[in-house]
Amino acid sequence: MKDLKDLCRKNIWDLAPYSSARNEYSGHSAHVFLDANENPYNVPFNRYPDPLQHEVKKALSKIKGIPAENIFLGNGSDEAIDLPYRIFCRPGIDNVVAIEPTYGMYKVCADINNIEYRPVLLDENYQVSADQLLAACNENTKLIWICSPNNPTGNLIDHDTIENVLDRFQGIVIIDEAYSDFAAERPMRVELPIHPNMVILNTMSKAWGCAAIRLGMAFASTEIVGLFNKVKYPYNINQLTQKQALEALKDPFEVEKWVKILLTERTRVIAAMKELKITKRIYPTEANFFLVKVTDAQAIYNYLVNLGIIVRNRNRIQLCGNCLRITIGSKGENEELLGALRSY
Ligand SMILES: *Cc1c(COP(=O)(O)O)cnc(C)c1O
Repeated sequence: MKDLKDLCRKNIWDLAPYSSARNEYSGHSAHVFLDANENPYNVPFNRYPDPLQHEVKKALSKIKGIPAENIFLGNGSDEAIDLPYRIFCRPGIDNVVAIEPTYGMYKVCADINNIEYRPVLLDENYQVSADQLLAACNENTKLIWICSPNNPTGNLIDHDTIENVLDRFQGIVIIDEAYSDFAAERPMRVELPIHPNMVILNTMSKAWGCAAIRLGMAFASTEIVGLFNKVKYPYNINQLTQKQALEALKDPFEVEKWVKILLTERTRVIAAMKELKITKRIYPTEANFFLVKVTDAQAIYNYLVNLGIIVRNRNRIQLCGNCLRITIGSKGENEELLGALRSY
């Protein structure tokens, strides 16, 4: 890996970040807060939230096995996807490499930031080699995006391939593990201490059932987390979100229960789908959704919409012709879907 200073945009490296009132006072116990021009009334919403979300990070640290100082919290993964562009990539000069097809936000954020996006097409098993990814890089490639389990394909990207990329690439490798709670393999985040150029993305939106509160996270070296913190909005995680996250994190066993049910349902729904005449191929999945190739994706999508059942039509995506991406729902929802498809 190159020196972080050489990877980072100069203006960001040199940036003196905004110092909030709550940043400057720290450690001491205090009870009279006259530093932030807040209103003393309307408790508890009158106070600015903790800009570095110490409580939430402490709880997450225990559950994820990552030291709090290696955690960045964002307004959804969306923020953790956008920030690396703003930190590392010079608009109009630098580029990023990503597997294709994958999650759409990596390209949207590249476009917003005016950064060249270099997609590397997966093979017919939705895998890629380290050589292919590295061949797409040049001296201005700052980031490589790997989503594993990948959205929309559902499969894990081969572990040795990812390791290989991490060992050989001189820039930052971002591994989006939004769906790792549903996967059989150990998540890559456990290898954080041995890969200084690795950034792992996680989210409260999927297994944790908290998409509404918008809480995403990045796990990385303290140096990289420091850069994220420097560039983020000072109070990027609002108090309601922090409070609700703490509530949810109290009960990881509830999440384990949900995941278990969803995995059982995944097996059941896939088995039932295999029996349908419309099903051409079901792709292996390690997530809470699966990709299925059908006889006519658009027609089946429209048919389901008319019944008030919405799946994701991925027909237009490269390597996903006539594919639908179907999320595993509750038992009742899955039954309704299967019933509808049986009478198609
Ligand atoms: C759903 C999803 C996320 C979560 O995004 P949030 O902004 O945290 O809700 C992140 N990455 C991938 C690949 C996803 O599919």
